[in-house]
Formats: sequence, C-alpha cells, structure tokens
Amino acid sequence: MDIKSIFDNNKKWVAEKLELDPNFFNELAKGQSPQILYIGCSDSRVTAEELMGISSGEAFVHRNIANMVPNTDLNAMSVINYAVSHLKVNHVVVCGHYNCGGVKAAMQSEDLGLLNPWLRNIRDVYRLHKDELNAIEDEDAKYNRLVELNVQEQCVNVLKTADVQKAVKERDITVHGWVFDLHTGKLIDLKIDFEKILEEIREIYRLD
Ligand SMILES: [Zn+2]
Repeated sequence: MDIKSIFDNNKKWVAEKLELDPNFFNELAKGQSPQILYIGCSDSRVTAEELMGISSGEAFVHRNIANMVPNTDLNAMSVINYAVSHLKVNHVVVCGHYNCGGVKAAMQSEDLGLLNPWLRNIRDVYRLHKDELNAIEDEDAKYNRLVELNVQEQCVNVLKTADVQKAVKERDITVHGWVFDLHTGKLIDLKIDFEKILEEIREIYRLD
C-alpha cells in the first residue's frame, strides 16, 4: 500500500458520498448521536463499521488489543463514560474475534515485555474459567472458547461501571457480547444471559 493512494482514495470517497447526498458532510458536521458503543479488537482484519454494515455517525468506536475493558484503564473507562452518560447510546457491544493474536499470546508463557500487564487481564479470564478451558482437549477449540469467555468477562466489566449501572436503572440500555469469525465473515451473537450476570454483579458491585 502506498500512502499517497490513501489521499486519492479519500477524494474518490468524498465524491461518491456527495453524489449520493450533497448534504452528507454538512449533516456529519452538525454533531453525532450514535446508538451503539462498539468495543472491538485493534486487529486490522476486524473493522468495526464495515462488518456491521453501518456508516459514519452510527457507532462510537473503541478498539484495543483483544477488546479489553480493564477497570483501571482510563482510556476504556472514559470512552464508556462519554458514550453512555453523554451520547446516551442504547447498546454497548463487546466484539471479539476468533484467531485473536492478543488472546493467543496470553495463552503462551513467553515474556512480551510491555504487553505483559495488558495480556495478564486475559490470563485472569483463563484463571476464572480454568476448569472449563482445561477440559477442552483440542487446542483450537480451547482458544476459540477463551475468545468467547473473554468477550463475556469484558461485558461484565462494562456492566460493572457506574455509568452503565446508572443507565440500566434510568433507561433502556443493553450490553451485547459478539464474536466475529474471520473464516466465514459472520458475526455471532453469544447470547450471554446478562440478567443473570447482572443479578450476581449487583450483589457485589452495587453502587447504592
Ligand atoms: Zn484480536
């Protein structure tokens, strides 16, 4: 890829958008009111808008290695705060993907320097679900299951935030756990039972 072609592509994109709607950029500049907060992996193969078939202005997006929501990460916490309490999104999505390099790295004992504390959050997910994961003999199946359980635990982290707990009481807000399958291009809803998880969370993490 040559960097100059990006600017040529951009010119084409502007022309295409204006042809469809001469007011496209005027509307875009007015402000945003997205319905979805999408938290996904930084992996170059897992694009947010493209895989959901949505366009500019429809999703507030946060991406990092292995779609993590660590409670002490000021970046992730600020994104949730802004999207939930200011933009008032009604859906928060945590989307993982099979073949996630971050999740794979966390399953190996290699020293990855600066990445170690980040990947330790995924190792914590492994520890929480050790019995289920250790019972899976096939390495690929085990790794896929860890991807799914990691999505579930990051959704739990989303539910634990003060912003989301407040929003759950005040209005309709739903948290979704999804996985993107790179082999088929399909988006899979893990259909996590958040009502049940929320009950358990309220007991321990309730804020009032
Ligand atoms: Zn990934």
